[in-house]
Amino acid sequence: MALNLAPFHKVLIVTQHSATSQAVGESLPAAASRLLKDMGLWSSFLEQDHQPHRLSKSLWGSAEPYFNDSIRNLDGDGWHLDRARFDEWLLQQAHRRGAGILRCSGLSAANLDPTDQSWLVETEVDGRRIHIKANWLVDATGRKSFIAKRMGLTPQAEDKLACGWMIGRDLSNAEQGSEIHAERDGWWYTSVLPNQQRLLAFYTDADQPSAKDAHKPNALLRRAQQLPDLAQTILTTDFSDIAAKHGFCSANSATLPQYAGHRWLAAGDAAMCFDPLSSQGIFNALYTGLAASTSIHDALSTNHFQPCIDDYSNALANIWQTYLNNRASWYQDQARWPQSEFWLRRTSAIT
Ligand SMILES: Cc1cc2nc3c(=O)[nH]c(=O)nc-3n(C[C@H](O)[C@H](O)[C@H](O)COP(=O)(O)OP(=O)(O)OC[C@H]3O[C@@H](n4cnc5c(N)ncnc54)[C@H](O)[C@@H]3O)c2cc1C
Repeated sequence: MALNLAPFHKVLIVTQHSATSQAVGESLPAAASRLLKDMGLWSSFLEQDHQPHRLSKSLWGSAEPYFNDSIRNLDGDGWHLDRARFDEWLLQQAHRRGAGILRCSGLSAANLDPTDQSWLVETEVDGRRIHIKANWLVDATGRKSFIAKRMGLTPQAEDKLACGWMIGRDLSNAEQGSEIHAERDGWWYTSVLPNQQRLLAFYTDADQPSAKDAHKPNALLRRAQQLPDLAQTILTTDFSDIAAKHGFCSANSATLPQYAGHRWLAAGDAAMCFDPLSSQGIFNALYTGLAASTSIHDALSTNHFQPCIDDYSNALANIWQTYLNNRASWYQDQARWPQSEFWLRRTSAIT
């Protein structure tokens, strides 16, 4: 968002992000190349040399593997991003186009000044309190939706999906893609990561007994080893250092009841979070960021704020509806455990 607005307006990115932040999510679909081209980032992105994502294997609707090769995709290969490097690169691209970057402890307050209708936001840098005045605010704080929540909005959750993940050292040296394996209480995702690492992630509902396994790396690994195909894939991964690299986080689908308002917009996960099964989260953050920058630029150029806010809100509402329809059809394709609470919730819309 910031990098698209920065050539035309004074933009400040207020971020908690550091160059070494560990963000989850690494698979970028090939269609993102279109957005990167639209934003004038394509050649610089290619120079980053992220690992191509060519092959995906899934054991979803049946125990027979299904292979998807990017050779059949008109957009070509996707990528396994080095996510920390990708996020930092985006920040630097915005900076090169003129955006300021304030690395701080995070926003602690955001209030509209009734006298001149500007925003007053507050943060701390090295223990020093800082106040910033802005005409527009964009909430890009991810699942925290910090600014939207300050305005009294509560993200509406569609489900209770959570993820237990761990990263091991991949000893195979083979070029491998990603895999999805359905099981009775959820599904698994595994993929090679840059620097000879492998991610193993288990998705289940946070209120189900299976979530206990997702919390504990040893239990997670034992559970993965009970699925013969998955066990085979992770055979060449050394998870002995798992204490250092594992986590548990929310991965549910959620949306704000309102995406924009008086001089503010929400973009990316702050506006709507997708099930990681979609692999669309980063794409959507880029897309809504681009749309947000267009709306703000139009609002400031025409001085007609409301139509721009309405267009943006309608576009996001359409994305959300399309996403919900797609999500329902992905889960309905999997009918192997009709008695399982996890799958019942997704096929009968009971949450
Ligand atoms: C387990 C899991 C796996 C996933 N896998 C994939 C995948 O393979 N592919 C994919 O495309 N998507 C995936 N996603 C989704 C993807 O990670 C997100 O959709 C994407 O990161 C959204 O980007 P964002 O910029 O909106 O939010 P984020 O990446 O969450 O960035 C938000 C930023 O805001 C900062 N921030 C937060 N609070 C404040 C504050 N108060 N003040 C200032 N800054 C603040 C944070 O530090 C962070 O830098 C996955 C998600 C999960 C949970």
